[in-house]
Amino acid sequence: MLLKFYGVRGSYPVPGPDTVKYGGNTTCVTITKEIDGKVIRIILDSGSGIVKLGKDIMKNWKNEVQPMTMLFTHLHPDHTTEFPFFAPNFLSSTILNLYGMQALKMHVGKILERNMLPPNFPIEYKDLKSQRNHYIIKDNSSFTIKYENKDIFTITAMQSFAPSHPQQGAIYYKIIDCEKQSSIACIWDIESKIGGDKAVINFSKDCDIMIHDTQYTKEEYESANMIVQGFGHSTYDMAIENAAQANIKKMLICTHFNPNHTDQKLDEIQKEMDNKNLPFKIMLAYEGYSVEV
Ligand SMILES: [Zn+2]
Ligand SMILES: [Zn+2]
Repeated sequence: MLLKFYGVRGSYPVPGPDTVKYGGNTTCVTITKEIDGKVIRIILDSGSGIVKLGKDIMKNWKNEVQPMTMLFTHLHPDHTTEFPFFAPNFLSSTILNLYGMQALKMHVGKILERNMLPPNFPIEYKDLKSQRNHYIIKDNSSFTIKYENKDIFTITAMQSFAPSHPQQGAIYYKIIDCEKQSSIACIWDIESKIGGDKAVINFSKDCDIMIHDTQYTKEEYESANMIVQGFGHSTYDMAIENAAQANIKKMLICTHFNPNHTDQKLDEIQKEMDNKNLPFKIMLAYEGYSVEV
């Protein structure tokens, strides 16, 4: 499977000269598998990165297998706001299977619909041309995406609650390529715990790749000036702790960056990470980064 990042920023978009290298768009990740030229696609979250993803998808539209699967970690604005600007939403041939958390007590479409109610948005959710099917995903549940009767991806969900992430928490997803048996744990919008988050560690055990929230440096997290503890995000050390205890095989990919962290700051952090002596590689994601898993 191919993993690709379209948005790596947390909280709000930060376009501009200081974020050219890593990118200023909010969370959007895609995982695809190509079979005989056809693309079976999973999309995680619809932060502002989804705008570029939509444009890229349109370039090879005829190869995109319908339905596409969209997994929402939670419904905060940095993970949802740009959903209406996802270009395939303007085609009636688009079928989207949207998955959201049970903790919201309503399906994800209801929340997206609310975001687009007048006078908030020029058109309503029901007026988008795409066909949308809504599903609620429960903690510890799994489902399989098939193509031509073959199992392609298995997706498993883990629900967190506050204080891991404020209010309804977030869903973390594990995606397994059924053919290769390779695996990716998607762990963002989480405030991990001292000594590691045992539930996340169990959930991510032996995965090839862990993608982890790294919004703060240790200094920022421990600062008494601008208090960020309780905001629902992790430090680089927390991400490393979880990846090490989970026995991540290949790589820890850091994402959901602090909007205040410039390219220069992220370069400095990457250098620090390069000096760690660990059994897996650590890399800071950037917009357009892709890796075959
Ligand atoms: Zn977020
Ligand atoms: Zn959030």
